[in-house]
Formats: sequence, C-alpha cells, structure tokens
Amino acid sequence: MEKHIAIIDAKQLSDVNPSLRDPVEYRKSGLSLNHIVGCPLDCSYCVRHLFENFDQRTPQALMSDEQAFEQLISHRYFQPHITPIQLFNRATDPMLPEVKPHTHNLLRLLDQAGLTNNVLVITRWRVTLEDCEHFNALRNIKLTILVTYSGINDPKVEPIKSSIAANSLRILFQHAQRYRALLYWRPIIPGLNDSAEHIAQAAELANHSHATVFSGLFYRREIAQYYQSQGIPEPYSSTARRKLLPLAEEQRLLRMYEVHSPGTPIFRKTSCGVAYAHRQPDYNGHFGITELCDTCPTAQYSTCKAAWKRPDEALLNTLCTTLGAEGEPLITDRAIIVRGLDEQRRYFMQHTLGYQVHDADKPHHYDRHGRAEAQRSL
Ligand code: SF4
Repeated sequence: MEKHIAIIDAKQLSDVNPSLRDPVEYRKSGLSLNHIVGCPLDCSYCVRHLFENFDQRTPQALMSDEQAFEQLISHRYFQPHITPIQLFNRATDPMLPEVKPHTHNLLRLLDQAGLTNNVLVITRWRVTLEDCEHFNALRNIKLTILVTYSGINDPKVEPIKSSIAANSLRILFQHAQRYRALLYWRPIIPGLNDSAEHIAQAAELANHSHATVFSGLFYRREIAQYYQSQGIPEPYSSTARRKLLPLAEEQRLLRMYEVHSPGTPIFRKTSCGVAYAHRQPDYNGHFGITELCDTCPTAQYSTCKAAWKRPDEALLNTLCTTLGAEGEPLITDRAIIVRGLDEQRRYFMQHTLGYQVHDADKPHHYDRHGRAEAQRSL
C-alpha cells in the first residue's frame, strides 16, 4: 500500500509561514494547489526562500488530498473546464517518492469529477513507467508534465543532477498517450549554463518533448541573500520582480537552438508551450503581445488568431465592477489595463476573457513582457 504523508497538527501548522498556510493561490498559470510543503532538493534559487521555508526538507501535509481538492474546486475563482490548475509548484516537487501518491491521487480526483481543465505538473525528479501509466489512465483533464532541466553542474547552485530530469523527460515522451511532456529549460543563467555545449545538449533533449519552454532566473532579494550567505557568485548585480534574461542572450540562444533542433517548437511562455502541445489557443491571451509569437509554428499561430477577440465591453465592465476595479478599464490591441486589482483578480479576469490583463501601475513595455532589465555581474 502506498504510504501517504502524515497531516500536521494545529501546533505545527502555527509554525508554517502564513503565506503557505492557504493551499490555493491564483498564479499566472492558474490556480495553484499546494497542501504539501517541504523539499529536500535544495535548488539554490528555489522560491521557498521567499516564504522562509527553504530549511524544511521533509514534506509535510497541511490537510488531506480530499480537503485540498474541495478547497480548490470551491475556490471563489475556480471555473470548471476553464481555470488552469497547477499541482505542487510552490513548496515541493510533485514527483518526490513521498509526494507522488498525492499527485496521482489529486489527478484522479480532478479527472473523476469530469473536469477538462488544463492541469500542469512541474518536476525535476524521477518519473517512472508506472507514473506514465497513471497519467495515461486519465480521461478528462488536459495534463501537461513540464520537466525542469537546466544543465547546471555546479552543485552549489543545483545539487540535483540534470541527468535525472533528462531521463524523466525521455520516459515521459516515449510513453505519452493521454498527456503531453514539455522540456522546461530553466533557469538559464548567463555565464553558467548558456555555453554552446549547454545549448546543444538542451536542444538535443528537446527532441524528446512535445515542446520546449525556456526562461531566465527569478532573482529576488531573498534568493540573492542566500547566494551571498553561501558564497555562490551572484549572476546579476540587482534583483527584480520578473524573470531575468537579457534580450541579446535570448536571441543568441534561440538562434543556436534552431540550428540544433529545427523540429521542436520553443516558446517564451509556459502557457504557449502547453497550448501548442494540446492544440488549443493560449489561455493567457499572449497573442496580443505579438513579439512573443515569432517562434510559434504557423498552425498554432492560426489557432490562437482564430480564437483571439477583443473582450466584450459589457462583460468586462461587469467583471471590473464585481471584482472592485478602480475607474474604467482601458482595452488596447495588446491587453486590458486595469487599476486596483491584485494579481489573483487580474488572472481570474485574464483566464475568463482569454486576453492579457495588466495593472496600470506596473506597465509592460514592448519586447519586455515578463522580462526584467538585467545587469550581469559575471
Ligand atoms: S501564437 Fe503566440 S500566443 Fe499563441 S501559442 Fe503561439 S506564441 Fe503563444
């Protein structure tokens, strides 16, 4: 019988960082469910630094899978068949031996409820043939497994060998029937894992995936402090709210990837890779941010173009009023601009309308979508 992680008691729960106690959070790629917290993999750039949780190496459960499932589907912003879902992408790895019975259990619960939502599972750990069989047995949800692979071989930055992720991706791709497997090539850090050899290796691995998504490093203040405390050379001289990857670096990487792997599409945005893999329009409405689409295959571009429409103003105004936006929204060819809505409410609106929703106080500039200015310190 599969061993499940014990649920923590009230005393232990009071020790958990307040921002980790609520297991459901609306993030850019959808509603994220995280009722298991703790990870032994020790990636130096882990977002758990942001929750002061990095030292918790043993996964703990905040509640049962059934309770977590109920909280997810009764969340005020959950929409059946529409809201994208992510499992265990904030505070643990979903394929750790002790965590994966919960991952499979939740996938089953979602699937048995007849939901057809996109579900994303992101891992860098071992995936077996038996896991693939579980994934293939699902009938309703649109499942994507994204395998995080960096090619970094400095154990201070990333103690886990990239060969583990590479093997998992090969197995997943080889056996995929009812799900899709993506190469999640990240974090790409200039001077560390962006040599011609690194790029060639990643491009070769891309042949064992349905698509590739690449991104830079999420270099926040808490992560920079950890780098300093461990004596890890800092890749950038400043931190940023968005992921870092200098434009010239991105262009070089795309050119070299194309040389080595002309057949496998590569995307800047997670939702675009997922959309392509399942032959559906991008649920985040990136089509309006035209400069993101230059790597996209023609057929996928047509799929997004056909689905792309300016939001209905009456519906948008109703949403703005209901969600509590300040003033009138502005609709441009690229995005809806609103004021006074936090991320959760903006993402809810974005997924409801299939159109980007930006905050008037945090402007996105052309060719800088989701990308921060970077100063290299190497
Ligand atoms: S057409 Fe643009 S928005 Fe649609 S999947 Fe391709 S890159 Fe993404």
